Amino acid sequence: MSETPTYIGFEEYSQHVPASIPSAVQQATNRFVSGRAARVAELPQWEELRQIGSDIRLHTIENMDVYLTQLEENVKAAGGHVHWAETAEEANRIVVQIAQEHHVKIAVKSKSMATEEIGLNRALEKAGIQAIETDLGEYIIQLAGTGPSHIIVPAVHLKKEEVAALFSEKLDINAPTDPIELARIAREVLREKFLHAGMGITGGNFLVAETGTLVMVTNEGNGRMCSTMPDLHVAVVGIDKIIPDWESLTVFLKLLARSATGQKLSTYTQFITGPRREEGEFGPKEFHMVLLDNGRSDILKDPVGREVFKCIRCGACANVCPVYKNVGGFAYGWFISGPIGAILSPQMLGTQAARELPFASTLCGACAEVCPVKIPIPAILLHLRRRVAQGDAFALPAISMPIRATARLSSVTLSQSWMYRVAGRLLPLINPFFRRNNWLSGMPYPLSRWTKVRPLPPFGARFRTWWKNVRSVRGKDSAQ
Ligand code: SF4
Repeated sequence: MSETPTYIGFEEYSQHVPASIPSAVQQATNRFVSGRAARVAELPQWEELRQIGSDIRLHTIENMDVYLTQLEENVKAAGGHVHWAETAEEANRIVVQIAQEHHVKIAVKSKSMATEEIGLNRALEKAGIQAIETDLGEYIIQLAGTGPSHIIVPAVHLKKEEVAALFSEKLDINAPTDPIELARIAREVLREKFLHAGMGITGGNFLVAETGTLVMVTNEGNGRMCSTMPDLHVAVVGIDKIIPDWESLTVFLKLLARSATGQKLSTYTQFITGPRREEGEFGPKEFHMVLLDNGRSDILKDPVGREVFKCIRCGACANVCPVYKNVGGFAYGWFISGPIGAILSPQMLGTQAARELPFASTLCGACAEVCPVKIPIPAILLHLRRRVAQGDAFALPAISMPIRATARLSSVTLSQSWMYRVAGRLLPLINPFFRRNNWLSGMPYPLSRWTKVRPLPPFGARFRTWWKNVRSVRGKDSAQ
């Protein structure tokens, strides 16, 4: 059975909405937006950097096979192990097997969207291994039993009062609402776990092909502890995280922290090239890199959709998105939310499963304006809308035949003036059958999909008649 977290879709969304959305989300995202603006203003060459970042990502996407092969060779040369996982299930199986071979009972984890994607914690739990999230936000949502609601701040939807209530309930203490105290409590609980963990699990922000280096960018230091304290370190990373070399990395490090949190550089930037080589060196005795495909190779075949892999997961697009700011992350139904979720989820899960997401956007373009690697998010949304409606070489249409037929009929009617005129005369004839208090309701399928949830005004606004009247009135006025 699949361990991948289920896409919940919009219909189930209302059951997952904590009370604090959207005020908590808006407060936090507004802070990030102003922080980003201030840091970006300090760099006159910002636009140039964005272009370079975008070009490097595109080049890497087009040559991913070459760079991944180079990465594998260099990780192995540095003494690490490389595993290729085609699916989420395979990735979970690999990590569980490594853990079992080393008799691991407790694993400490740093924040990783790849492990959220594959549902690793549940797979480990099933195998009797306790997986403890050690990033503060991830620890909070693990206690709450939910997924992340933002790419970089997973518990952004919760206010300090709600976190205090959660700690009180789950840790059986009387937790205060002071954030510093709450962080201290979490630190105290987690220190114990670090000391007893047999395995550290991390994700990775970048994979440098040139040297086989895993790069982790964090702010809390827990990533460093996960990757150095236990003797065994397993990194689960999507193949799209590959970059060619260290020179490229300097560009992305400049773009990432500024776009994500409004920092010049994140507090911890860690470079891991294989396990420790000598006694006395820091680091684990054994280092495993699990390279996750999970549908990425298929997305690479779509020349428009694959630009999604330029993403460096900064979250800036969510912070400015008017939809995200009002509905929060859970509305997107999967582990990744915001505009990037709206273009990634339908491609990874299939347009049949996540067909609503490309339409849940105003296409205002704010996301594309802030994206540090210039992903044309609105253009990809439109491309995916087309795929959902009409289907193409990558997916069958996800919109039902009657709805597509109705849309096609409307399109023909609106483009032929005689048909438009005839329809304008015929449609008002059905008003008496469905009219209730000046609105039409209880219409047959497919119009029932509309009238079930929102009112439809009666047919009758005869535009041409109205326009003729307006012109004749205006004509009279100007003649006087
Ligand atoms: S799409 Fe762009 S702005 Fe959004 S998370 Fe990815 S890199 Fe950041």
